[in-house]
Formats: sequence, structure tokens, C-alpha cells
Amino acid sequence: MSIKAGSHIGIIGGGQLGRMLAMAAARIGYKTVILDPAENSPAFEVADKHVVAKYDDPEALKQLAELCSVITYEFENVDVSAVEALESRLPCRPGSNALATSQDRLVEKTFFNDHGIQTAPFRDIKSREDLTLALDEFGGRGILKTRRLGYDGKGQIRVSQDDAASIDEAANLAEQSECILEGFVPFIREVSVIAARSPSGEVSVFDLAENVHKNGILFTSTIPAEAPSLSQQSAKEIADRVLRALDYVGILAIEFFLMEDGQLLVNEFAPRVHNSGHWTEAACTVSQFEQHIRAVTGQPLGNPERHSDCVMQNLLGDDVERASEILAMPQTMLHLYGKAEAREGRKMGHFTQITPKSGE
Ligand code: AMP
Repeated sequence: MSIKAGSHIGIIGGGQLGRMLAMAAARIGYKTVILDPAENSPAFEVADKHVVAKYDDPEALKQLAELCSVITYEFENVDVSAVEALESRLPCRPGSNALATSQDRLVEKTFFNDHGIQTAPFRDIKSREDLTLALDEFGGRGILKTRRLGYDGKGQIRVSQDDAASIDEAANLAEQSECILEGFVPFIREVSVIAARSPSGEVSVFDLAENVHKNGILFTSTIPAEAPSLSQQSAKEIADRVLRALDYVGILAIEFFLMEDGQLLVNEFAPRVHNSGHWTEAACTVSQFEQHIRAVTGQPLGNPERHSDCVMQNLLGDDVERASEILAMPQTMLHLYGKAEAREGRKMGHFTQITPKSGE
């Protein structure tokens, strides 16, 4: 049964993703309540109500549960036990199992491999000995990553047997926090897929995006991705398998490494709408944001087919000053997040330029 129009959706996190979710919800008849500790969160401006409190504040979560018919979130580091507590009162979509799996790289990669999905090789690293053994296994090169709280390349060290300083640095990090070492993957491109599942088990997958990062932050997404059609098909099948295995409801993003031979290795998944899916608002009739709202409210999912090819580019820091220039560009959709301060590297907005759909 779907959630009645006019009901409130609780969104944990009031950044740009929460903002775009709230806007999509309003468009199809739902109201939103945003929880965020920052007084001037971008999503507050476009939501019906907001609560200023820490994400795991029991009083604030109680308030959210009382006001809302369903809870969702815009980032993956929400406290799992807080979501578990909420789940006993009302639907939380996606559920705490997806959050818990995505929060720990060791659990996440083990989950993928257990479901027959390939990743870079990885080892649990607790000491310098573990590190040197794993480096030997991986041909002398790897990337040490903290199991938790790493994003946009943070909490990572590139390690090489030929570079003693990198080994010292990595061994120190591994002794301070739980880490994994991944073998270094010689990928040719990075691609991602955005998929949705409804409470009744309906699955819908957007086209594969090709992503370019700068300084560890997404810079552009290009659709269609330059990838063999078999790889595109395989990305969709992997998304389908992950959604079902987690009994997932909502939008999920999976990032992959594309290898020379067309093989895909999963890097990670995000249990939420994702920067590499922003293009959908300009090149599809239903954006990832609306698709997420449709899924969490139990409404029919929209058709994920794109009507145009496109390139989405992020506006970081001062790039936001290009707004007028972008508004003058043909076939281009600009989206600014309403953030007051344009700090260096901060995501301030994005724009997507569409072109006629290619035959592929
Ligand atoms: P992550 O935080 O896991 O998304 O990693 C950030 C970036 O580091 C990725 O987008 C890749 O460009 C690169 N990277 C991560 N893991 C590997 C790997 N195992 N081999 C090669 N490059 C990697």
C-alpha cells in the first residue's frame, strides 16, 4: 500500500541531496521534515518542517517518528542503532541492514564476494605484518583504506613495497584504526549505476554513467558511458542482485572499476541518491530523487530510460561564480544548492548539458 499524498517523509541530513529529495517530494505531493544539526542547512529552505539537532539525538528522532509516515536519509553514516530504533516504529527506507553493510568496507566487500560479485582483492589489516604479507600477495602495490568513515578518497594511503615511507605511514594508520588493503586495480574507467527498488520488489535501473574525479571528488558524469554493452548489462544485473539481496527499498548507487577486457569490479555502494546520478534530472523524465521518493512511498516507479545524452559537471567552491555563464549555455540545466559560503572544494551546485540521444 502506498503512503498517502500530503504525508510527511522524514529525511535525515539536510545537505544538497536532502534538498533535492525534498523538492522532488513536493512536486509529487509529499511534505518533508529534515533533521540536521546545522542551522542553515540547504534542505531547510525547501522543506515543510525541520529539526535542528544531532542525527542521533533521541528526542529529535522521536519527533521525526511522530511527524512522519516513512524515514529516509541522504548520507550513509547515520547511526545504525538510531535507525534500528526508528524501524521498530515506522518504515525506514532503505533499512538499517543496508546502512550497516555500506558503513564498513570489510563487511561491504565480503557481502559483494559472497553474492558472486567481483571486487578488487582485499585483506583485513591489523598490523604491519598483515600489511607486508598482503602487499606481497598483491604484487607489491595497494591502497590502504580505513574500514569506516572514508569518502572522496579520504582515509586512504597508496602503498608500494618500493616506498618505505608509504609502508610506515600505512602501518601507523592500520594500528590506529581498522583498515583493509586493496590490491591496486589497473582500471581504464570509473563507471556507476543508479538503481531503485520498490517495497513490492519492482526494480528499475538508470543507464551507466562514466565518472571522472578530480582530487578525489566527482568532476563529471557522462552518459552514455564508453563501455561495452555486455558491461552495461552486467552493471544492471549486479544492481538487481544487490537490491534483492538487501531486500532494499529506495535508490542505491554502485561504483565500479571498468577493466580493459570489459570486466566490472565493484568499488563500493551508497545506500542513497548519489552525485553520479544528478544527470537524471535533466536527461530522464523521472530523476533519481523522484524515483527515490516514489520507492519509499510505495508509488509506482518511473521509467528510467534516458531521452538525451548528457554531461553533468559539479560546481566546486568558486566555480559557482560561473552561474550566469552556464545559464546562457544552450540545452543546459543549472542546479545550485543555496549554500552561503563557497569554500574550496565544497559542492555548490552542478549543471547538466543534454544532447540528442545517440544510437549506441
Ligand atoms: P574510494 O574512496 O574507495 O571511492 O576511492 C577513491 C578513488 O581512489 C577511486 O575513485 C579510484 O579512483 C581510486 N581507487 C580506489 N580503490 C582503488 C583500487 N583498489 N585500485 C586503484 N584505484 C583505486
